[in-house]
Amino acid sequence: MTATTVQPDTAGQAPRPTFESLDPATGDVVGVHPIHSAEEVQDAVARARAAYAWWGGLGFDDRAEILLTWRSVITRRMHQLADLVHREMGKPHGDALLEISIAIDHIAWAAKHAGKVLGPHKVSPGLLMANQKAFVEHKSLGVVGVIGPWNYPVFTPIGSLAYALAAGNTVVFKPSEYTPGVGTWLVDTLREVVGGKDVLQVVTGLGETGNALCLADIDKLAFTGSTATGKKVMAACAQNLTPVVIEAGGKDSLIVDEDADVSAAADAALWAGMSNAGQTCIGTERVYVHEKVYDQFLTEITARARELDVRAGADAAAKYGPMTMPKQLDVVRSHVEDALAKGGRALLGGADAVGERFVQPTILADVPEDSLAVTEETFGPTLVVNKVRDMDEAIERTNATAYGLAGAVFSGSRGEEIARRVRSGMTSVNSVISFAGVPTLPFGGVGDSGFGRIHGAEGLKEFTYAKAVTVQRFSSPLELVTFARTKVTEGRLAQIITVLHGGKKTLKR
Ligand code: NAD
Repeated sequence: MTATTVQPDTAGQAPRPTFESLDPATGDVVGVHPIHSAEEVQDAVARARAAYAWWGGLGFDDRAEILLTWRSVITRRMHQLADLVHREMGKPHGDALLEISIAIDHIAWAAKHAGKVLGPHKVSPGLLMANQKAFVEHKSLGVVGVIGPWNYPVFTPIGSLAYALAAGNTVVFKPSEYTPGVGTWLVDTLREVVGGKDVLQVVTGLGETGNALCLADIDKLAFTGSTATGKKVMAACAQNLTPVVIEAGGKDSLIVDEDADVSAAADAALWAGMSNAGQTCIGTERVYVHEKVYDQFLTEITARARELDVRAGADAAAKYGPMTMPKQLDVVRSHVEDALAKGGRALLGGADAVGERFVQPTILADVPEDSLAVTEETFGPTLVVNKVRDMDEAIERTNATAYGLAGAVFSGSRGEEIARRVRSGMTSVNSVISFAGVPTLPFGGVGDSGFGRIHGAEGLKEFTYAKAVTVQRFSSPLELVTFARTKVTEGRLAQIITVLHGGKKTLKR
């Protein structure tokens, strides 16, 4: 939670606007942070540009050594960081540790693989240009702006920060106003490692500070947050033709086939739908279950959900915490009410499950597909569980959304086949969100879930531009790009092209 304040005028200095981050379980103030102005954001970008002269000039090995040292510092203090995550956004300490652990693995992967993925690669010059050596390398862009959300305040931004830094860029990071302390902690630890250099800086504030970063003199903007804000970010970045990566919201489904391990699917759906209080971009919001195992699935998941311990207060033993953003409570309530008004059934929870800070587990069945709980991102611990005739219908319903972020499939024999037919950036078979912990896999969505990729080789390349180089090794018998080109040469060119590409070809139907 946040609240804006203005610090009193001390020693004749102009009052400085600040905001507080609040513990969402108790309302206690966790920290006070500056609201950085557009001018301060641009100053940070200018410092990042100066630091790029050093950081961008280092080799991959030197940068890797620094990033791996940062990784070690974070690892040795991970409980301290997890505690801060818990206090600022409310998730249990253990969930924070899980998120931090995966993020640490990503820093290590990006650091160790940047050279191999981005360094010069020889490519075939082809027959016509056989006298050329050809290679491509991926060069850093300069200064990258990163804007992050609060729901995974370590894992999510690290997906951009680590990959952009490993590729040789310097970064200015604007964390969510709900988790500014976590963002500052991450930046401070790298600053310690690089002796105060401006390789990674933080600017804090609300939407205006994010907007200022979009309009500053940056070379790319990596945004993670809601689809609505993503559109504003794109519009702002368009003014300077600044390229963007948009990692936005989702409405992921989990599909259960007739031959699936139903208990495992129920366990996974419950965790993917309700851990982090349902505030997970790649969390499960819809479940489509084959009619033959629908009743069994409902019985299993409802029984498990009843056991969930969701105590009000900052209790370390609770399975999930409060809603981080108070305004999200109204969204969750309205989705549940709409589903029930349209004929859905609440097997557990319901509109009354939405309290002042916490939402109790809510399982809705037989919810019409035009309900808000099916079409819009709910971002709460609620699950819609609907029956399908077969897997074709499950896929059709899954794909009937403007979003396309991730999802899961539980099936004994057809998991991969179903997964490949789902229109989304990531799908896990017989488990949930596993792809996020595999650093070699790209992470991102399609449609309203955004575009561009973080993680893996694609995630490193996202923060670079491709540079193509040819080096002439010997002069060609076919001198083509000269005014001295002769008719004989042109004739030979036509002959070669005809031999290479002129064979009679008919469409195989
Ligand atoms: P949000 O869009 O409200 O805010 C995200 C960030 O954008 C914050 O730092 C905010 O200050 C900033 N911002 C707000 N207005 C801005 C503007 N006009 N210009 C520039 N920046 C601005 O999102 P949120 O509530 O922090 O996060 C939840 C959303 O993020 C959910 O929709 C969730 O699905 C999505 N999310 C997506 C991913 C992913 O990888 N695809 C990961 C985590 C969260």
